Amino acid sequence: MADVETQSILVVGGGMTGLTAAIEAAEAGREVYLVEKNPYLGGRVAQLHQYFPKLCPPTCGLEINFRRIKTSGKVHVLTMAQVESVSGRKGAWDAKIKIEPRYVNEKCTACGKCGEVCTREIDNPFNFGMDKIKAAYLPHDMAFPFRYVLDPSLARSGEGQTVKDACEYGAIELDMEAKTVDLKVGAVIWATGWMPYDAKRLDTLGFGAYPNVVTNVMMERLAAGNGPTKGIIVRPSDGAAPKTVAFIQCAGSRDENHLPFCSSICCMASMKQATYVRAQYPDAKIIIFFIDIRAMDRLESFYADLKKDENVTFFKGKVAKIEQDGATKNLVLRVEDTASGSLNTITVDMAVLATGMQPNTSVTPQPAFAQRDDYGFIASLEVTPGFFAAGCTRTPINVSESVQDGTAAALKAIQAVVRR
Ligand SMILES: Cc1cc2nc3c(=O)[nH]c(=O)nc-3n(C[C@H](O)[C@H](O)[C@H](O)COP(=O)(O)OP(=O)(O)OC[C@H]3O[C@@H](n4cnc5c(N)ncnc54)[C@H](O)[C@@H]3O)c2cc1C
Repeated sequence: MADVETQSILVVGGGMTGLTAAIEAAEAGREVYLVEKNPYLGGRVAQLHQYFPKLCPPTCGLEINFRRIKTSGKVHVLTMAQVESVSGRKGAWDAKIKIEPRYVNEKCTACGKCGEVCTREIDNPFNFGMDKIKAAYLPHDMAFPFRYVLDPSLARSGEGQTVKDACEYGAIELDMEAKTVDLKVGAVIWATGWMPYDAKRLDTLGFGAYPNVVTNVMMERLAAGNGPTKGIIVRPSDGAAPKTVAFIQCAGSRDENHLPFCSSICCMASMKQATYVRAQYPDAKIIIFFIDIRAMDRLESFYADLKKDENVTFFKGKVAKIEQDGATKNLVLRVEDTASGSLNTITVDMAVLATGMQPNTSVTPQPAFAQRDDYGFIASLEVTPGFFAAGCTRTPINVSESVQDGTAAALKAIQAVVRR
């Protein structure tokens, strides 16, 4: 009879894939350790305004998953945590997990008193630095766990004590330190997901230099009610309503100098974001510059519906350069029409770069046996017996595909601990 420890499963990454894998395995009776580097679960999905194709808020799906975590009682969530090392074999893995200090313990009721007295501000990572938050903060209003975090710069400053004194629950621990825990598990699921490709590397497209050039992930935050502009899509330069918005597809994707692959998501994401703009500004004009539109399977109808909107133009051509009109901060796009070969200059109020999904495994350390493909993904589901990769760790996919992949990984992990 196998012991309890090696019957348990480690899931690394608490995005939609890891959450699904953890919950499915827990509901099948396994003890699960879910390790997430952020102070909250949900991954990139927590930052989306709406899901394509149904345009519903992601918070619904996340809420259901968080409830399932609570009900199962078998998912042990470690946030602000990363795997330092993992070694062993099927049925007997040893993992070392480093947990960064949150400076706030589980007595926190999220009453917000610490934030009220705090004067120190930091860039808001949840909104990609588009606004500031207090250094004693709730990561976002639907965060799970629903618990504050102190930025290390606050905890180490004189103001830390003021913030601690404001907490009537004894939840703030300024002397909290990083710690390492050792876990013994029978199977591991690696689901560390993706990050947006760094748009600053696209040096002809003006991101970072011109305020009205934003990325697709920033657009999700601009449209979200809990975003930096409370859900009103405005030009960053002057807070004005945009009258013309350009979506630049394949910004750094399918390009040997950047991400050579197609993320398969960006066309749908831009078309979805076009609906965000159109819903807020009925007169706004949208131009989607594309190489070819990838709207697979049932998503084709979303594309077909959007094409019926006379304020939305699909322009087949790659934007080569973006410049800024210094006086208006409008953007001047140089683009070749692929069909006619003509060179065009088109001026818009705002441009959204549809940057692709770069696997986190392309930059973060993982076990040496977890071989990456040419693009940085860990492509195989079963990397080695008892160790599995899932979701956007394997390939760029959408949420429903991530849920399927997480479920598949859970099944394989359960088999690995049962069949020994
Ligand atoms: C602009 C844009 C819009 C999108 N809109 C939609 C949409 O409308 N509908 C749709 O179906 N899909 C959409 N997607 C795709 C969707 O975001 C992905 O399908 C989904 O995020 C995949 O989930 P995941 O868990 O695999 O990865 P992630 O969401 O990236 O989650 C991975 C998790 O792992 C954590 N992590 C990373 N490294 C470590 C580490 N070393 N240790 C511990 N934890 C770690 C991360 O913090 C994160 O929480 C969109 C994508 C983009 C780019």
